[in-house]
Amino acid sequence: MLKLAIIGRPNVGKSTLFNRLAGRKLAIVDDQPGVTRDRRDLDITFGDFDVRLMDTAGLEDAADGSLQARMREGTEKAVADADIAFFMVDARSGLTAQDRNLAEILRASPTPVVLVANKTEGRGEEGAYEAYELGLGDPIAISAEHGEGMADLYQAMAETVERHGIDPDKDEEEDPEFKPLRVAIVGRPNAGKSTLINKLLQEERMLTGPEAGITRDSIEVDWVWSDGERDWPVALWDTAGMRKKAKVQEKLEKLSVGDTLRAVRFSEVAVLVIDATQPFEKQDLQIADFIAEEGRAAVIVVNKWDLVEDTDLAAKELRLDALRAMPQFGGVRVVFLSALTGRYIDKLMPMIVEAYRDWNAKVKTAELNRWLEGVVAHHPPPAVGGRRIKMRYAAQIKTRPPTVVIKCQRAAEVPESYRRYLVNSMRESFELEGTPVRVFLRAGE
Ligand code: GDP
Ligand code: GDP
Repeated sequence: MLKLAIIGRPNVGKSTLFNRLAGRKLAIVDDQPGVTRDRRDLDITFGDFDVRLMDTAGLEDAADGSLQARMREGTEKAVADADIAFFMVDARSGLTAQDRNLAEILRASPTPVVLVANKTEGRGEEGAYEAYELGLGDPIAISAEHGEGMADLYQAMAETVERHGIDPDKDEEEDPEFKPLRVAIVGRPNAGKSTLINKLLQEERMLTGPEAGITRDSIEVDWVWSDGERDWPVALWDTAGMRKKAKVQEKLEKLSVGDTLRAVRFSEVAVLVIDATQPFEKQDLQIADFIAEEGRAAVIVVNKWDLVEDTDLAAKELRLDALRAMPQFGGVRVVFLSALTGRYIDKLMPMIVEAYRDWNAKVKTAELNRWLEGVVAHHPPPAVGGRRIKMRYAAQIKTRPPTVVIKCQRAAEVPESYRRYLVNSMRESFELEGTPVRVFLRAGE
């Protein structure tokens, strides 16, 4: 979670940007400066980032004293709490003494700042020139009201995160023991999901409470699983149980897309259950696509292994089929088991944990750049228009799933096939088997 504070004097448009990023009307926007607004920190996603929009409304009410002193105190605190600050000025009204005061506070703070010139609709960057004076780098011209410049703002934020080595996931790591690992078991009807869940609960004796936590439209079962070294609290999304609890009598033969998506979105690791006797059908591939698109870690369970005769041969073939049918899952872990008999079911949880680890993997910048040098030397990007494209620098900007930005010349001209080559090579080189890997190419030095 990237903690973001939007800082600026009253009336520059902070609430308007807050609302825009939040995607709905939350804060009350008022022409009158200093109107008390009712809002709280809000968790959103901005592009690839999970962002906590910090509540900086009413900074000016922070304490007694002059407005100037109050703004200073409130701002200092908000900025200290944030991973990154957007400092917003009003490009229409021009800079004021208050802007300069706040800029001074921000320059003195270690928190990285993205300077934002708002209300530039129709004027673009021209409206933002004056803001250069503040000594906080290049201003990003936006119109919060009209939604202009949001892509530039995002890019500036992503670059700042990268340049300053901000780790957006550090909070999650602080006490991983207390956060259950979220697992969803998905697959088409009759693949054996309910049987698998029941067997897991029986065999692994992981149920900690007598009651599953029941929410409006889902059932979450909480376990603790031990890998021998540590305990893993596990929250399992039980779509199958949900159906039963809902007392739906007839078996749902149709894949409920909504259920599956909800389950995948809930999960950190998605377990895709496939029927060994009817492997890799269209619905299986569709679910695999969901998982990849949502960026979740994955494990494939090939179930009903008791019905397979030549298991060695079948395992080999199915592994190849998995690679072919789901290239986006390259190297994903596959477990062959029987949910009915319980055979090999003990292999599943360790694989889930490994996939989770891959999903959280961090590659050191130095290692990543050594890798980049190696792959580019081995297989350089194609020359476009007779000119070679140079890959300059790689950095991992986030985990869950591992996401890397590579700065290169003419990023837009690098063919998709080359980007895929980089993804696959990264996966192999860093043994990221259970997770999507994202590679973005961006223009820049
Ligand atoms: P805050 O006090 O910094 O939170 O500012 P608000 O978000 O309440 O905005 C103050 C005023 O500026 C409101 O009247 C907004 O409608 C207006 N405003 C915000 N963004 C823009 C913009 O991009 N262009 C223009 N023209 N007005 C804006
Ligand atoms: P779901 O719709 O994915 O939840 O599937 P179910 O768990 O209800 O299983 C569908 C059918 O497959 C049931 O008749 C199960 O008994 C059967 N089944 C599930 N797992 C296995 C298995 O490992 N081996 C065999 N032979 N049958 C299984």
